Amino acid sequence: MEEQLPPHVLIFPLPMLGHVNSMLKLAELFFISGLHVTVLLSEHNHSLLLRQGSLNSLLSRYNGFQFATISDGLPDDHPRSGKRTMDIMMRLMEVGESQLRNLMVSTDWLSKSESGDGVVGLKRRPVTCIVIDGVMGFATKVSEEMGIPFIYIRTCGACSFWANFSIPEVINADEIPLRASYQKRKEMDLPVTSVPGMEGILRRRDLPVFFRVHDVNDTILQTIKTETRKTTKARALILNTFEDLEGPVLDQIRKQIPKLFSIGPLHAHLKVRIAANPMESSARNSGSFWEEDRSCIVWLDSQPHKSVIFVSFGSVAVLTRDELLEFWHGLVNSGQRFLWVMRPDSVIGKSDIPAELEEGTKARGYIVGWAPQEEILAHPAISGFLTHAGWNSTLESITAGVPMICWPCSADQPTNSRFVSDVWKIGLDMKDTCDRVIVEKMVRELMEVRNDEFLDKAEHMSNLARKALSKGGSSSSNLDSLIEFIRSMIA
Ligand code: UDP
Repeated sequence: MEEQLPPHVLIFPLPMLGHVNSMLKLAELFFISGLHVTVLLSEHNHSLLLRQGSLNSLLSRYNGFQFATISDGLPDDHPRSGKRTMDIMMRLMEVGESQLRNLMVSTDWLSKSESGDGVVGLKRRPVTCIVIDGVMGFATKVSEEMGIPFIYIRTCGACSFWANFSIPEVINADEIPLRASYQKRKEMDLPVTSVPGMEGILRRRDLPVFFRVHDVNDTILQTIKTETRKTTKARALILNTFEDLEGPVLDQIRKQIPKLFSIGPLHAHLKVRIAANPMESSARNSGSFWEEDRSCIVWLDSQPHKSVIFVSFGSVAVLTRDELLEFWHGLVNSGQRFLWVMRPDSVIGKSDIPAELEEGTKARGYIVGWAPQEEILAHPAISGFLTHAGWNSTLESITAGVPMICWPCSADQPTNSRFVSDVWKIGLDMKDTCDRVIVEKMVRELMEVRNDEFLDKAEHMSNLARKALSKGGSSSSNLDSLIEFIRSMIA
C-alpha cells in the first residue's frame, strides 16, 4: 500500500528578527503537529542563526526539519537597523521573486518527491503549501505559477493589520496626509473615523508610522497598502494574536478575510504544545540572532520581588544620543531599579556619559547588549517593561503579565501602544515625546503609584492568553483547524 506522506509546508518570513523569530515558532508548532517543514531564510539571517547554534539545535531536535536560503539582495555589511530597516523589504521585493523561482525549480526536495535517501533521509512530498509573510506579495506569483496554494501570515497585531488594510478608506476620508506642521501639533490628536470598528480608539498619531506622510503617493505607504490588500488572495490568514485580546478587530477582518486563524501568542503556544508532548524535552528560544548575555539573570536573581523595570527597544530601533540621555536621566531620577538592553548598534554616540548616570546605574541598574527577553519578563523581580511596543515584545509582556510603558518608534508600534494604554489598559503610552521628566513620571506611575492596578489588569490579560492556549481554548482549537486545513489541501 502507498505510504501516506504528510503535507510539506514552506515557511517564508521577511528576513528581520521579529518576523523570523515568530515564524520559526510557527514552523516548530507545525512540525510537532506532524507536518513536514522547510523554513526559507535569507543567507544573512541563516549565518547569524547558525553562529548562535539555533539552527543546529532545531535540526537535532526535529529529525527532518529543513532550511533553505536565498539572498536578501543586500551586501553582508549593509546596516539592517534604524532607518535602513525598510531597505530589507524594498530590496527583497526587487530580487526575491526570481530567486524564489530558481530555488523552487532547482531544488529536488522542494519540487519533486523525495525517494527516501535524500538530504534528510526521510520520505517527503514536494511543497504542498507556502506560508508567506504577508508583506512579500512577490512570493504569491511563484506560488501561483507552480500551482502551490499559499496562506498568509502577519506577524503584527490584528489592530495594526486592520489599520493598514484600511489605508484606502483613511485616504478617502482625508484623514491623511498629515501635513508637515501637523506632526508636531494638536491635529495629530484628531480622531480617526475611517477604520471600521476602531472609531473612538485611534487618533492620527496612533496610526502605523507609514501613515505619517505629506503625500498619499508616498512609496512606502502605497507599498504597504498594496501588499496588505493582497491578503484577500491567500487561502487563509494566520495572525499571532488571540480572540480575547483582539476579538472585535478580528471580527472586522473576518468580514473581508473569513478564513482567519488567530493562534497566538505563538511563543507561549509552542511552550504549551512542547510540554504536552512526551517526545519533546524543552522549549528553547530558536530565533535569536545575537548571543544572549545571561549575566543579567544572575543580577535579577539578586533583586527584590517585583522591583525592576526592564528596558528594551527590540532588534532594530535606534536611539539618538539625546534620546538615550533623556531615557537614562529619567530612569536614574525615578529611583527605580532597571535592567536595560542596549544593543551595540542601537545608540548613536554612547560616549562621555555624565558621571551621575554611571553612578545611578552602578547603584540600581544593569546594562547588557542582548538578553533572553522572554525569560526576563517571566522573572519574579520584574514589575514593568519600558518597550518600543514591537508586536512580539507586546505579546511576550502580555503573556508574562507585565505592565508596559510604550515608546513606539516605527511600523505598527504606535497602534500597539494605543491598544496597550487605552483598550487593554495595561500600561502607559509615551509616544511622540522623549523627555527625562516624563520618563521619570511614567516610570514612577507604573512602578509605584499605579503598580497594583496595572499588575491586576496585566495578570487578567495573561490569564486570558493562557486560557486561549489551553485545550479547547480559541488559539489551540484554531491551530488544530489550521493543521486540518493544510492537510485538506492535499486530500
Ligand atoms: N529580544 C530578545 N532579546 C533582547 C531584545 C529583544 O530576545 O535583548 C527579542 C524579543 O523577545 C522579541 C524580539 O526580539 O521576540 C523583538 O521583536 P519585536 O516584534 O518586539 O520588535 P522588533 O525587533 O521587530 O522591532
